[in-house]
Amino acid sequence: MIKDIIYNIDIKTPCYIIDEDRLIKNLEILNGVQKRTGVKILLAQKAFSCYHLYKLIGQYLSGTACSGLYEAKLGKEYMGKENHIFSAAYREDEIDEIISLCDHIIYNSFSQLDKYRSRVLNSRKKIGLRINPEFSTQKGHEIYDPCSPKSRLGITEKNFRHNDLNGVSGIHFHTLCEQNSDDLKATLDVVEERFVKSLKNLEWINFGGGHHITRKDYDISTLERCIRRMQEKYNLKVYLEPGEAIALNAGYLVTKVLDITENDIPIAILDTSAACHMPDVLEMPYRPPLYGSGMPNEKKYTYRLGSQTCLAGDVIGEYSFDEPLNLGDTLVFEDMAIYTMVKNNTFNGMPLPEIMLYDKSGNLKTLKSFDYEDFKRRL
Ligand SMILES: *Cc1c(COP(=O)(O)O)cnc(C)c1O
Repeated sequence: MIKDIIYNIDIKTPCYIIDEDRLIKNLEILNGVQKRTGVKILLAQKAFSCYHLYKLIGQYLSGTACSGLYEAKLGKEYMGKENHIFSAAYREDEIDEIISLCDHIIYNSFSQLDKYRSRVLNSRKKIGLRINPEFSTQKGHEIYDPCSPKSRLGITEKNFRHNDLNGVSGIHFHTLCEQNSDDLKATLDVVEERFVKSLKNLEWINFGGGHHITRKDYDISTLERCIRRMQEKYNLKVYLEPGEAIALNAGYLVTKVLDITENDIPIAILDTSAACHMPDVLEMPYRPPLYGSGMPNEKKYTYRLGSQTCLAGDVIGEYSFDEPLNLGDTLVFEDMAIYTMVKNNTFNGMPLPEIMLYDKSGNLKTLKSFDYEDFKRRL
């Protein structure tokens, strides 16, 4: 068990540890969906850009999904399989390189399509349009809902030019976030009714990301029925581009207790930071799982866990433990592979956590370490 190893050795903290075995288990689930249905699943790099593992990921998945030129380069260089890109708008000075690196170029508007259509067609790459089905299936966090009012993501039915699709071979929608396949099905019903039914000459459809396929309670058979429906009824090639699902629960953030103070409740100061190393904790917000802990007051000793930084709100949450915490204790936050390394920063001059791999043979190795220069170079 990874956790026993973490406690037994003297690793430098803070550090992320990627669990190769867990990653492979996720990839096997995803590859199962591909094999049974013929869908193509791409790694959405924005969730997990750990290119050291792209070769492994590429043994199971069909390629990479990118949000911009840099991700397009990374995907091409380290996975080298199908490379698809969506951006809300492309820059004039980047589009040619993007076209050379990517197989599918997905536009967010008809004006972008008009601007770059001929260049893409001359290169024989595929053109897609992102649509907005205006069908919201999530509540509570508008920041993660591309169907929220006045959203800039995707073309709405009203703005869709059904007669101006020269060169367009596919459509893309991305409206889910950490959701199950019942929400996909409901969304697909709307997408079918408003777009797919009336579009001739479509070759492919991309269901975007947000499918929590590797979560224990995910209903894979409904997902597969959605895929088959598009394949059989409309003869479409189907793509999925999940990010989270690929490295869900496949990484840890290891930290140590630097100090213990008190203000109504015991407070432990850690050598990690929510703001710097797990920003989604504050942005989503959510409570990251912490190995061996309970909810506040569930176990005997409850602590508020916070960071070294000067941001008052840089607090991870309140957690309880069977034993009191001690200075130097190691704590292990779970599910820390996704949306962490790709989002971290050096606010307050906080060090970036080392990135390590716990490989499937049980060896722990360093993929990347950081120092003062990494902080300085960006300023
Ligand atoms: C964020 C995003 C994804 C991946 O989403 P997950 O929630 O990590 O699965 C895929 N496609 C697009 C266009 C995205 O913006």
